[in-house]
Amino acid sequence: MPETDSAAPRNTPLAAVLGWPIAHSRSPRLHGHWLQRYGISGHYVPLPVMPEHLAEVLRAMPRMGFVGANVTIPHKESVLALADVVTDRAALIGAANTLIFRPDGKIHADNTDGYGFIANIRQMAPDWIPDLGPAAVIGAGGAARAVVASLLESGVPELRIANRTRIRAEQIKAEFGAKVVVYDWAQAGNMLEGALTVVNATSMGMAGKEALRVPLDALSPDALATDLVYTPLMTPFLVEAQARGCRVVDGLGMLLHQAAPGFERWFGRRPEVDEALRAAVLA
Ligand code: NAP
Repeated sequence: MPETDSAAPRNTPLAAVLGWPIAHSRSPRLHGHWLQRYGISGHYVPLPVMPEHLAEVLRAMPRMGFVGANVTIPHKESVLALADVVTDRAALIGAANTLIFRPDGKIHADNTDGYGFIANIRQMAPDWIPDLGPAAVIGAGGAARAVVASLLESGVPELRIANRTRIRAEQIKAEFGAKVVVYDWAQAGNMLEGALTVVNATSMGMAGKEALRVPLDALSPDALATDLVYTPLMTPFLVEAQARGCRVVDGLGMLLHQAAPGFERWFGRRPEVDEALRAAVLA
């Protein structure tokens, strides 16, 4: 059978978000808003998929009319081994969040979190110039890796990083190179001195969790502070940074922007990220 026959005929395009659990995901609302706004006859559905079923589900999806998918916790790393084509940035980050099921049956995996992170800052703080000074990243989990990759690509001259589990920050330095400087978790406050971009990439400050404990005394009012956590929108970290005179950018825009490249590839239209979308996702 020729390879081009391996996928189902493409009538109404389907896309999904795969995770375990998945009920909390805002992606269906986000993509649903765009589908409705642009009058596209597609569907985007949440699919709860247990880790041991991921390979089987991914193999079946193209035959069911799916043109692509987002993957979230706990599949972002394991999906790399199941994809046929992995972009350089997904390989560097070690995780993918966006899959395209190509007409030839191959699965293409990309990571758009770093793109979403930078696009959000550029939209909310258009005069932000990353190469003017060091960036400081608090946290070294999966999302932090995408943030580090995108900040280095944007031209930050030095990238400081501290993580509770130091070895994860050391690993990032080993993989991302000489511009990365690792600070001890107990000294994380010190790395804020002179930093012009400061990022909370931990899950601290999320509703129901403790606030980030890093002291912000050294934070300059010239710095831009941003958080990956978006529930609440104004985390304790952003509230304090704003009180110190910093410009602050919340994490919701990263979620919205990271979704745009996938939507464009699946449904054929570059979607807009604007207030109407924010309101729809927050509703
Ligand atoms: P992850 O891989 O599990 O990493 C979690 C990070 O938080 C690690 O650095 C971890 O440190 C740190 N952390 C957790 N509990 C801590 C504590 N009690 N004290 C100090 N540090 C603690 O998660 P992730 O995927 O990177 O996600 C991180 C956050 O970003 C989550 O809140 C996630 O929802 C958010 N996120 C937002 C977007 C967006 O679009 N806005 C996209 C992706 C992720 P250790 O290494 O020491 O455990």
